[in-house]
Amino acid sequence: MHRYTILTISLLSVTSCFACPGHVRRAANGTVTPQSYTVQTRIKPSVPTSNVAITNVRIWDGYRVHEPDTIFIEGEFIVKKLRTVDEVIDGANGILLPGLIESHAHPGSTKDLETLSSYGVTTVLNQNCQNYEYCSSMRGQTGLTSFFTAGLSAKAPGSSHANNSNSPLDTLIWSPSQAPAYVGNVFGNGSDWLKIVSEADGPDQATQNALVREAHSMGKKTNTHASDLESYIMAIVSGTDRPQHMPLDGLLNETMLDLMRSQHQYATPTMKVYYDVLHIPGAGASLGHPGITFDEGWAFVKQNVAAMHAKGIPILAGTDSTTPYAGLSVPFGSSLHDELWYLTEAGLSPQDALRAATTVPAWAYDLPNRGAIAHGMRADLLLLQPNADPFKAINDTKKISRVWVGGLEYMNLAGNSSATQ
Ligand SMILES: [Zn+2]
Repeated sequence: MHRYTILTISLLSVTSCFACPGHVRRAANGTVTPQSYTVQTRIKPSVPTSNVAITNVRIWDGYRVHEPDTIFIEGEFIVKKLRTVDEVIDGANGILLPGLIESHAHPGSTKDLETLSSYGVTTVLNQNCQNYEYCSSMRGQTGLTSFFTAGLSAKAPGSSHANNSNSPLDTLIWSPSQAPAYVGNVFGNGSDWLKIVSEADGPDQATQNALVREAHSMGKKTNTHASDLESYIMAIVSGTDRPQHMPLDGLLNETMLDLMRSQHQYATPTMKVYYDVLHIPGAGASLGHPGITFDEGWAFVKQNVAAMHAKGIPILAGTDSTTPYAGLSVPFGSSLHDELWYLTEAGLSPQDALRAATTVPAWAYDLPNRGAIAHGMRADLLLLQPNADPFKAINDTKKISRVWVGGLEYMNLAGNSSATQ
C-alpha cells in the first residue's frame, strides 16, 4: 500500500471541452467566469523498487488472450524474468490488459487523476492547457495516471470558444502570419502537441493550415477540435494529425474519408460526450443545431465513426470528461469504459475498441512504452475479475480487480484499491 501526503495549491484554471464553457456554442456575447480549481500535488513517493510476480493471469497482447501465465514487474517496468521476487500476487485467472489510455479529457486536479487510476486509466491526454503552471504541476505524479497535454487552444477573436473562455486578445490568432509566434509559444511552454479549435467563427482555412505547417516544421503534432461537418472538413484539409470529436450534422463523403486515410489522420470521436449532451433537453441549441434531436445527432455521429472504421482510419477512445458544469458531468474514468461500449455500437469489435484505448493511441501520440504488455514496457496494468471477459461483453472492462500504474499498485488515500463494479 502506498500512502501519500497532499499539498494544496490554488491555481486559476479553466478547462476547455466540448460540453463545458470552452466548447458549447453560445451567443457571441456569452461569457463565463473562470473557475478556481484546487490543485493537489502529492509529495511524490520514490519510484517503485520492488520485484513483483503476478501469477495466473491471462494476458491480452492486443490480438488474443493467452493461456494463464506469470508476469514480472521490476520497478516501473515489465520484464521477462526476475532473479529475485519480493512479492507474489495471485491473479486468480483474470484477464490482464494494458492500462487504458484516455485520448480526450480535461482533468482539473490530482483527485481526477486518482479517479482515472482507480478505473485502470493509466495515461490521460489533456486537450487544452489554459494555465501552463497548472499543467506542469499535473505531470509526473508517481503512482498516478500519467498526464500529457495540449497547449492553449488556438482560437479566433469573436469565436464561440474565445468568448466563452474570456480569452484575452493576445492569446488569440486571426492571421497565418501569427502562426510562428503562436506555435512557438505553445511549445516553448512545454506542451506535447498543438490544439486548434475549428468552428464556424474560428480560425479560417489559411490560418489553420499555417498552424499545422508551423508545428510540423518543428517536428510536432497537432489536434483540431471540430464538431460540425464544415469545421471537420476544414480540419481534414489543414492536414492536422488528430481531429477531435465528430460531425453531428451530416456525413463525411468518400473524398474526405480517403483524404483522412491518405494523410494518416487519427480520429477521436468522443461518442460519450455526444451521447450525454444530446440527451439534455435543448442541447441542440447549445451545439449550434437548435432543431437537432438525440436520434438525428447520434445517428450522424455513429455513422461517421462506422464509415471511418470501415475505411481503415484509426480510432482513438476519448470521452471529453471534465469537472461538472451546468448540470452535465462526463465523469472521469468510468466514461472511458462507456466509450468502449459506444465504439462497439458503431461497429468496432471489442478487440478494436480496446486497441482504441491502448495500442492505437500509443502510436498516435508517440508513447513508445505504453499500450501493450511486453518486456520493457511500463508496468501500467489493469487486472480484471476472474469472471470478466470483455471480448464477449465489452462492459466487462468495468469488472476491475487491481490496477498498477508505473509498477505501483493503485491505492487511494483511504488505502483502498481500484474502483470495482
Ligand atoms: Zn474537450
